[in-house]
Amino acid sequence: MNDPLTDRIWARFDGGGDTPFLTLSTLCRQLVDWQRESWVEFKNACDSLRNTNTRDIKCSGFSIRLMYNPGRSVNTLAAVTPDEISERPCFLCVNNLPAEQMAIMYGDDFLILVNPRPILPFHLTVAHRTHRPQSVYDSMTDFLRITQDIGPDFAMLYNGPRCGASAPDHLHFQAVPSGEMPIEKDLLLREKFSVLSETDHTTVSSGRGLGREIIVIEGSNAGAVCAAFRELADALRTETGHNDEPMINIIGHYIDNNFSLAVFPRRAHRPAAFFREDTQKIMVSPAVMEMGGMIVTPSETDFNRLDAQTIESIYREVSLIK
Ligand SMILES: [Zn+2]
Repeated sequence: MNDPLTDRIWARFDGGGDTPFLTLSTLCRQLVDWQRESWVEFKNACDSLRNTNTRDIKCSGFSIRLMYNPGRSVNTLAAVTPDEISERPCFLCVNNLPAEQMAIMYGDDFLILVNPRPILPFHLTVAHRTHRPQSVYDSMTDFLRITQDIGPDFAMLYNGPRCGASAPDHLHFQAVPSGEMPIEKDLLLREKFSVLSETDHTTVSSGRGLGREIIVIEGSNAGAVCAAFRELADALRTETGHNDEPMINIIGHYIDNNFSLAVFPRRAHRPAAFFREDTQKIMVSPAVMEMGGMIVTPSETDFNRLDAQTIESIYREVSLIK
């Protein structure tokens, strides 16, 4: 009899071993196409993206894209306190995945899965094969390796356990097609960043006038980028007085043989208005995509009423702005 993990493997990626002619990004797109055929709920979730409404809002110095997606209410309203987490079965553990869900086994430790509640077409979840806490400090080497292997077509995403991860108890990343988040355009504009430090292997810069704190680490050597990231995480930990991982979201790219990590240091998970119980409640729960300028709300009222001033104020509230 096969073990539960083996039964879930749709394909393997070991740096080209079994599938030498397929890139990882092609394999991922094929998985999405195949799951649309083999899993009706997933197909419906993908089809419903066609009805997603978006609206671009120009804020001072930057723009965001507001997205109305009622299918994301489970994520936006996710209960993430330790008590609430311990009371529910973990939805990323192999034994609890929906019966139709299959995976690309990436190396020995990670499963690449379609996100069953996608924000964008080809939205993937990359979950560790075992149940272990969400932490990028120790898994940055894996994050960078997957970012490199999946290549420039995708952006790799990370949500800290206290600022956006809906499974803070199970290590996972996400991947979405590159170029969809407004911040990705800003990342290409040198004038929007000031260099903080430079070594032979890495450059660390800070965003200017983008409404939220962004630290970008760039370099071609994964070890050096990882070391620079840990230095930043240690500094944030000292600054915020937290023993745990500092609250951060990350967008990673690998383009032209160079890594780029956009790190968003956070002060709070959700704005105070999220917790209101009157008509002023705002159903926006900022995670990595929101910090990247793609602001998702499952509420049509909020989609219609959110404006530049409110967006700027949400960023000021949740971002660790200097
Ligand atoms: Zn789990």
